[in-house]
Amino acid sequence: MTPTGTLSAETQSFLKQPMRNLIGGDFKAGRGEELAVVDPATENTIAEFPGAGRDDVADAVAAARTAFDDGRWRSLPPAQKEKVLHKLGELMERDLQQLSELDTLDNGMPLAFAQYAVGFAIDTLRYYAGWPTKIEGTLNPVPGEYFSYSSREPIGVCAGITPWNAPVSVAINKIVPALACGNTVVLKPAEQTPLSAVRLAELCVEAGIPPGVVNVVNGDGPTVGAALVNHPEVDKISFTGSTATGRLIQAQAAETMKRVTLELGGKSPNIVCADADLDAATGGSLMAAFANSGQVCYAGTRLFVERSIHDEFVQRLVAASGAMTVGGGFDPASQLGPLVSAEQLDRVQSYIKIGVDEGAELVAGGERVGDNGYFVAPTIFANVSNSMRIAREEIFGPVVSVIPFDDEEEALRLANDSEYGLGAGVWTRDVSRAHRLAAGIRSGIVWVNTYGDLLPSFPFGGYKQSGYGREFGSASIDTYTETKTVLLRL
Ligand code: NAD
Repeated sequence: MTPTGTLSAETQSFLKQPMRNLIGGDFKAGRGEELAVVDPATENTIAEFPGAGRDDVADAVAAARTAFDDGRWRSLPPAQKEKVLHKLGELMERDLQQLSELDTLDNGMPLAFAQYAVGFAIDTLRYYAGWPTKIEGTLNPVPGEYFSYSSREPIGVCAGITPWNAPVSVAINKIVPALACGNTVVLKPAEQTPLSAVRLAELCVEAGIPPGVVNVVNGDGPTVGAALVNHPEVDKISFTGSTATGRLIQAQAAETMKRVTLELGGKSPNIVCADADLDAATGGSLMAAFANSGQVCYAGTRLFVERSIHDEFVQRLVAASGAMTVGGGFDPASQLGPLVSAEQLDRVQSYIKIGVDEGAELVAGGERVGDNGYFVAPTIFANVSNSMRIAREEIFGPVVSVIPFDDEEEALRLANDSEYGLGAGVWTRDVSRAHRLAAGIRSGIVWVNTYGDLLPSFPFGGYKQSGYGREFGSASIDTYTETKTVLLRL
């Protein structure tokens, strides 16, 4: 299928223009390595353009530094900042279809999923657009001869480094809370999915965000990402991506003591108790594992099922997954799009082989679909042990491991036996059991009788090697501000 015929006129005309970096308010061709953007559904090259080089990163950071230091954004009255951010929200609403098409083209996700994700990004933007007028300080309790207050100040130049699995929404998570607090931003999108970030850069300019306040540099991690992490004038890194890269970034950022927020990988447990509504748990568990073809950081990939319903539940999963449609993101029937890249296809296929070799029982999927595009069938392993590699390592594809458990204590022990701690699910009709399990699981979020729902108003982030710091809610405001205390002797 060639998607070009199904693209809106706006997207087609956007794709004809050269992809550029936004630096200091100007769109500039990069001076770095050539980037090729591949449509994962067809393996066709959609765009080729020079990415940013180290000089471009230096220019972008200098522009962000100047824009921060001269106060062109920081000193704007809070209500004025809100107006500009809401304007960006209006433009994103206007261009929702185009932004969604770009993410489907780049990443492969079904268009309906892309529309949902862009809608969520707009909700997030609206939530943070209301914050500038609400960031408060404190009056501190001190003895009578003193007067003291603490205020929240922006940190400075914030670099956002993002992965390819939800390009628009993760970019908005990096840009908008930072701006709401008065910071300036340099965004580096994933090299596999740069298109929507270039369009977002254009919308930032159209919304009236002053030059240099938002900069976008496209390029790979080791060159462009690392140049940002090592740059002494960058004050904060907000990174979403793999735990391996997060570890590297944290170590490098320590050289200049940058503030760091890390949203990393996961191997999230999803616990189905025997008393659960099994219809809801079946659909919910499949989406937990297979939404976005499993390329979701909080995917529920370790599915713990109470032994008394294990065989029946596996049968339900197999039947329902067999009815799922795998196909290109522009086909309205498609529920699972392709994996993002040939590299990711290899990785997922190699893990499926590892699972078989480890002795797990392959009960559904396991194979590539077609020989054009990076499609993999929804894959279910049963009778998995939590010690197998397929249950310990993040696969980031449509592969779920079903692991039986006998009682709550065992479910908790196995769920927590992981180096990760990002998301978790619990399916039960017993309210006390739900709360006991939620209290016992060591992860940043626990969904009960649902999975994966996110709202901008509550914090999200990882325990253990899933990262630290939280995004969303007031937690993001905390991570994009410094606290300054003033003490006067009266
Ligand atoms: P990745 O770590 O390979 O890349 C993420 C970003 O980091 C990309 O922009 C990349 O260019 C950049 N990068 C790579 N090496 C770098 C370096 N040395 N210095 C600076 N930047 C560098 O991850 P990925 O494969 O793009 O994304 C998948 C991973 O992201 C998965 O592990 C997934 O769980 C995680 N993820 C986490 C969340 C979350 O909120 N916790 C959300 C989405 C994805």
